[in-house]
Amino acid sequence: MSTPRELLNAAKAEITEIEPAEVAARLDYYTLLDVREPDEYEQGAVPGAVHVARGNLEFSVEGRLLDKSAPIAVYCAGGVRSAFATKTLQDLGYTNVVSVIGGFNKWKDDGHVWTTPQTLSADQRNRYQRHLLLPEVGEKGQMKLLGAKVLLLGAGGLGSPAALYLAAAGVGTLGIIDMDVVDASNLQRQILHNIERIGMRKVDSAKKTITDMNADITVKTYDVRLSASNVLDIIDGYDVIVDGTDNFPTRYLVNDAALLKKIPVVHGSIFRFEGQVTVFNPYVGPCYRCMIPEPPPAELAPSCAEAGVLGVLPGIVGSIQALEAIKLILELGDPLVGRLLTYDSMDQSFRTFKVRRDPECPACGEHAGEIIIADYDEYCMPHAVLAN
Ligand SMILES: [Zn+2]
Repeated sequence: MSTPRELLNAAKAEITEIEPAEVAARLDYYTLLDVREPDEYEQGAVPGAVHVARGNLEFSVEGRLLDKSAPIAVYCAGGVRSAFATKTLQDLGYTNVVSVIGGFNKWKDDGHVWTTPQTLSADQRNRYQRHLLLPEVGEKGQMKLLGAKVLLLGAGGLGSPAALYLAAAGVGTLGIIDMDVVDASNLQRQILHNIERIGMRKVDSAKKTITDMNADITVKTYDVRLSASNVLDIIDGYDVIVDGTDNFPTRYLVNDAALLKKIPVVHGSIFRFEGQVTVFNPYVGPCYRCMIPEPPPAELAPSCAEAGVLGVLPGIVGSIQALEAIKLILELGDPLVGRLLTYDSMDQSFRTFKVRRDPECPACGEHAGEIIIADYDEYCMPHAVLAN
């Protein structure tokens, strides 16, 4: 039988220990792994450290530190638990691990940088646990979502599923613009609303549904018609705009304002049995004017007429918009920048088309002049209304 001291010495004999100063000097080289208990971590940690408590190490670390050859510096409070953890990581196949001598206490005493990490509450940890299980999201990503602000243009067919999923995913602030009231004919597809809300302002109905589902979410409502006089003020401060409007004037207006404010727009549209989604990332990919330089004549513009839409279809398209918004916030995967995704519900097919930036685009092109925010009603609409 071994004493604890002998176990520690045995572990230390097989690992490399390193002074805090050496790690502090190479913070861009090492990934720091904090193996203390959650209550210790919450009171202060090295910025950017990955936190996996010693007790969860064997079963959790491989999901958090994917590259087994990457340099890792493990620390605990005083350098004992980190010695055992370093030995464990080596046994798990990590090849470049060191243990920080004296742990976080010495780190702090030596005057190296530390912060009080923002962490999720126990309720949030439970609520978002399926996100936390994804290393690509994790606690850091969830904190990012909770700090993010998404503006939804319209609480209608596309805005409904988008708002519900963004709220469920924990996007902390949702702005909703809509100046309509709930009508019974909306309920065929606008799932934010229900029969008791008929006659209620759509933004109020949307806010109630969202906060009933997730009280973490701040909902800001704008019961106004988006126009040249208010668009810049309204979109200011949002990280992403989810556009569910169904008319050309508003799309051009939003495009130009979003270019000015450099806010990405997740554009979605639906018609009969088909839908489209793309992402306009200002000056990175094409803008709406690159894709559609001019609105079609009023008589050909489907949004200007009462066009039919199959129920469920907006659910699919709006959900894809929500997903793209989350990808943009978390900088995950490959957003639909410069790509138009089309969906045909009749043969259940998705297709992607390249959309290129137009160097001559009057809004985002090389020779584009100053962007003037103006209303474009004369193109096709006697009155612009948001998505229904
Ligand atoms: Zn453009």
